[in-house]
Amino acid sequence: MIKPKKLIWQIFPVSVLTILVAIVAVSWYGAVTLQEFYFQETENDLEARASLVSERVLQLLKQQSIAELRDYSIRMGRDSGTRITVIRKDGKVLADSSENPELMDNHRMRREIDIAFAGSVGKSRRYSKTLGENRIYVALPLVDRLNSPQTEGMPVSYVIRTSVSVASLARTLENIRIRIIGVSLAVMIFAGVVTLLVSRNVSKPLEQMTESARQFSLGDFSKKMLPLSTKSASLEIVTLAGSMDRMAKLLDEKIQAILTHGNQLETILSSMVEAVIVIDTSEQVIRLNESAALLFGVNRKTVPGKFVQQLVRNVRLQQKITRTLATREADLDEVVAYNSSVGERFLQTNIVSLSDGQGAYVGVLVVMNDVTRMRKLEEVRRDFVANVSHELKTPITSIHGYVETLLDGALDNRDDARKFLKIILKQSGRLSAIIEDLLSLSRIEQQSRKKEITYKQTALYPVIRQAIETCQVKADTAGVSLEVDCPEDLTLRINSTLVEQAVVNLVVNAITYSGRGDMVKITVTASVAETSGTVRITVEDQGCGIAAKHLPRLFERFYRSDQARSRSLGGTGLGLAIVKHIAQAHRGTVEVESSLGSGSTFTLVLHDDQLAQNKNSLKNL
Ligand code: ADP
Repeated sequence: MIKPKKLIWQIFPVSVLTILVAIVAVSWYGAVTLQEFYFQETENDLEARASLVSERVLQLLKQQSIAELRDYSIRMGRDSGTRITVIRKDGKVLADSSENPELMDNHRMRREIDIAFAGSVGKSRRYSKTLGENRIYVALPLVDRLNSPQTEGMPVSYVIRTSVSVASLARTLENIRIRIIGVSLAVMIFAGVVTLLVSRNVSKPLEQMTESARQFSLGDFSKKMLPLSTKSASLEIVTLAGSMDRMAKLLDEKIQAILTHGNQLETILSSMVEAVIVIDTSEQVIRLNESAALLFGVNRKTVPGKFVQQLVRNVRLQQKITRTLATREADLDEVVAYNSSVGERFLQTNIVSLSDGQGAYVGVLVVMNDVTRMRKLEEVRRDFVANVSHELKTPITSIHGYVETLLDGALDNRDDARKFLKIILKQSGRLSAIIEDLLSLSRIEQQSRKKEITYKQTALYPVIRQAIETCQVKADTAGVSLEVDCPEDLTLRINSTLVEQAVVNLVVNAITYSGRGDMVKITVTASVAETSGTVRITVEDQGCGIAAKHLPRLFERFYRSDQARSRSLGGTGLGLAIVKHIAQAHRGTVEVESSLGSGSTFTLVLHDDQLAQNKNSLKNL
């Protein structure tokens, strides 16, 4: 491809060349015309001179005074700076102002002389063999005008010829030519400079406009098409620049509007909890939001352009998208997707067809709502209801059965009646314990959710002591000793009733699952970091321990590592769940360390920033 030339190189050389041709043509024509004019003037002049001397020459010829004629010729020739020659009809030169006529050739056949003898004024410009130079000759037929007024058609016997050298003329002409060339050159240089300036004036604003347009194409609309400093621009260019400025302004506004619109859309999409994917009719992903990228474990930037099958690995979801793409029918459903990083996910999917502003079908929009938590909660609630029903059913069935047996006649047998009533009492106690635990669990949950739990800076030792006292009777009955190690000056921001309940639950469990003669040790330690303090209440027993497989689910409601044993020991399966909720209400945790046969250690971990502050203030003292 030919590289386009700059505008200045298109205008300038052509203009200079045109000017050059014009000047050369005009100069040449002028020089030629001038030369011709000069020659003609000289010829007229020679004719006049010849005419002036012709009277006298004719007179001398008539007198046959050839010697005098020669003198006259020489004198007149010298005075007028003209060569004067007189020629007879046979071509013999009778007199010449410059040469000896005797030595001169026959001049009859000289062109000007021939014409003159024919009766006209002969003119010629040619080389003189006699003088060896270029000359202009004018030959006049000599006719006696005085004696014969009618000269026309008269035979011509003599011719007078005048001539001058062309050399001096040529010199003069040469000088004139040199001046013409000089002036032409000056005009050419001047015209060249002017053309260059004009070309630059035309091309400069265009170059500036090109630069501004380049900036526009890069998205920078801050500059004007023509800077204010550009004064040389023509009206057309200024008008064009103005139009382009207006166009750029409109474009800028449109781009800004699109960007704002895009940013708003992006913000909306990014802040949506729902996963959103936009797919075109060729099943390629056009756009997806952060939630979708997270859900499918992909990098959001690299997905657009990929096929939906590469993103969505779920066959059912793929089928649904393909179906909506084909039928354009909206699809609302729920699918279970699996992702290695986020695991099993329940997704409520809503797939609708998408149309552009003109109503043309462009693809589908997939909105996925992750309802995993909701489904899991539903599952937990279902399990909980089933568990509660199951837990309540056993004592109720038992009570119901024994009451029936009593009514059926066992009431009459005093011993049986007593035995059965004891069982009914035990089962109703169990019922009451379960209901009480359930109530306290839901109370903690509710109060915690509504932020109704009150916390106070409390000395921990009395709380632990109170819990031990509550459990002492049970410990004594079970033959288990209790040991407490708690700093007496430790204060903590807690709800003392709840913390006491948690400690009671842990200690009761420890007693329950310990053997006679075992010891349960309650230790309280406080550690203070730079900004927060941590208090660990540890309940350690030497009991049966818990198999590792049960540990992860131990704090779930109604979860028991040993169903039969727990029930027979009067456990409700809610004690540890209550402890967990109490810990959470204090922004704390509960941990367990245990293995089958080697006792268990439960730790309630509570945090208090006040501890750190106290320590820091002590340090500063
Ligand atoms: P329960 O009322 O049955 O004790 P918990 O929620 O308090 O219910 O305890 C859940 C289960 O954890 C118990 O059934 C028991 O199997 C196990 N467990 C709790 N504490 C201990 C412990 N200190 N030693 C052994 N097993 C324990």
